[in-house]
Amino acid sequence: MALPAFALFGPPGCGKGTQAVMIKDRMGFLHVSTGDIFRNAIARKDPQAMEAQEIMQRGELVPDELIRDMLSKELSILLAESKDAKGLILDGFPRTVNQADLLNDLLKEHNLNFTGVLALEVEEEELVQRLLNRAKEQGRADDTEEVIRERMRVYREKTQPLEDYYKGKNMYYSAGGVGSLEDVYNRIVPIIESWN
Ligand code: AMP
Repeated sequence: MALPAFALFGPPGCGKGTQAVMIKDRMGFLHVSTGDIFRNAIARKDPQAMEAQEIMQRGELVPDELIRDMLSKELSILLAESKDAKGLILDGFPRTVNQADLLNDLLKEHNLNFTGVLALEVEEEELVQRLLNRAKEQGRADDTEEVIRERMRVYREKTQPLEDYYKGKNMYYSAGGVGSLEDVYNRIVPIIESWN
């Protein structure tokens, strides 16, 4: 039987990564973050990822095909290791309409059943503040104010159109991104349960 999969959707800093870890730990889902895959590939000096490192540091999107290949390899490893998972959370993918098309092939290839995108919506100024705080705590290379503003611009231009794309397919679910971590999580759970 195909494993259910959904994508967490929203701008940088909306809490996708944090909520993904909560869903993983509490509901037994697998979690793949394309940002983490890419950062790990850079850390081990993977030649293809190194070539795209500058793009990421500018706050832009790395080429769709590169992200697709890295995600597919990671999915093969993860799905082979974890046979009793309840489902899969995609975090940071798809980020362009073209990636949404590439996702269809990935789903077939890995025997996944896509249930939709779950959106966390937060105002832009709050996002910038959250990301500046994260910069202090984690020191991520792409968390400077200039790069954060660029990532927001790229989000509006390239990723936001996916909202209408998935609304048109009746696959867009909004959980809101404001409130405590528990508040947001408590709005997410019934949406995931409605997919069963
Ligand atoms: P994230 O950790 O999701 O904020 O991603 C950090 C950076 O990695 C992004 O700003 C992009 O440069 C790159 N990246 C992550 N996921 C994708 C994706 N699906 N498509 C293109 N670039 C990505």
